Amino acid sequence: MKITEIKTAQVRVKVEGQPRYLYRYVRVYTDQGVYGTGEASHVDEGWRGSTQSMASQLIGMDPRDVDACFEKVRRNYIFRGGFAGLGISALTGIEIALWDLAGKAQGVPVYRLLGGKFRDRVRLYVDSAQNDYQRRAEEVRAKGFTAIKFDLDDAHNPHKLDPWNWSVTPDELKSMVDQAFEIRQAVGSMDLAIDLHGRYDATAGMAVAHALEPLNLMWLEEPVPPENVDALAKITSATRTPICAGENLYLRHGFRDLLQKQDVDVIMPDISKCGGLSECRKIANLAELYYIPFAPHNNSSALSTVADAHVCASVPNFLALEFHRYGDPTWDEVILADQPAIQQGHVVLGEKPGLGVELNEQFLQAQLEKGEPLWQ
Ligand SMILES: [Mg+2]
Repeated sequence: MKITEIKTAQVRVKVEGQPRYLYRYVRVYTDQGVYGTGEASHVDEGWRGSTQSMASQLIGMDPRDVDACFEKVRRNYIFRGGFAGLGISALTGIEIALWDLAGKAQGVPVYRLLGGKFRDRVRLYVDSAQNDYQRRAEEVRAKGFTAIKFDLDDAHNPHKLDPWNWSVTPDELKSMVDQAFEIRQAVGSMDLAIDLHGRYDATAGMAVAHALEPLNLMWLEEPVPPENVDALAKITSATRTPICAGENLYLRHGFRDLLQKQDVDVIMPDISKCGGLSECRKIANLAELYYIPFAPHNNSSALSTVADAHVCASVPNFLALEFHRYGDPTWDEVILADQPAIQQGHVVLGEKPGLGVELNEQFLQAQLEKGEPLWQ
């Protein structure tokens, strides 16, 4: 079996007639008719060109040699960002498509090729920007979700004195802590995570982590920016609040320091951005050596969410996968599947070969301008 062509599709899905969510898909074609589909996340307009340039290096290779295909392109990209960023994310989209293809070609679900599954249902947590905490918590609990995340950082906090300075004033800190206690009261005993989006300095991040200790959080996410893992480590080692980070790191190499030094309590690689299914399974396995749970970041479409679930099913230390699109009426429409992808707050994986779902091309085509081809 040989790769013959790779195409891309870029679609901005409309919600109530208004253009909203931008999704980027990759399809790998072969000489035997079977194809695979993947998704790349957090990329910009250069993604399409990068994918096409990578495709030229893969034509003629056997798509079932997923890791070799990945590594060939990655090594060729060392001088163009083969460690992180757009190139890795574009390659990640191809990698996911290769796994879909490899599964279909061998007649097995992707999780089988990743070593089999530890679980049939992959637990999601709802990422929620909403301020009506109680209503949101009750709503998602009724739908079977067992974990939720709220944002505590607010660039427009009225007590903030300087938009560039990442410190907190005493009044700002108090307003944040009051809000967090209000959230815990609203959600009750549900697993609760709080996100700070790396928007605080080390002293401020530490102050928030300390103040939230009584809330028994599932984690506090990125109290400081991601570039300096030692600053993160200082907070992690000084607080009882579990600290989570990693949504802006790439590849195993990007997680090596973080894990070796045990700078965090929970890791959250973004699977469809930082290297793909194989790479993230390896990252989860490295984390397991330190008894660190794996809770991937995800704000991709349904296709990648299902792809992520294959990795989450295949590692013992999986904790929860992010679900960023709660309440989006178009979320399910992007894919065609035998059963709803999300049931009772979990992604349910079946026995269908590959990822087990296909893109709903009719729906996606309808989001484009008339005459614009979906695959280019
Ligand atoms: Mg985050």
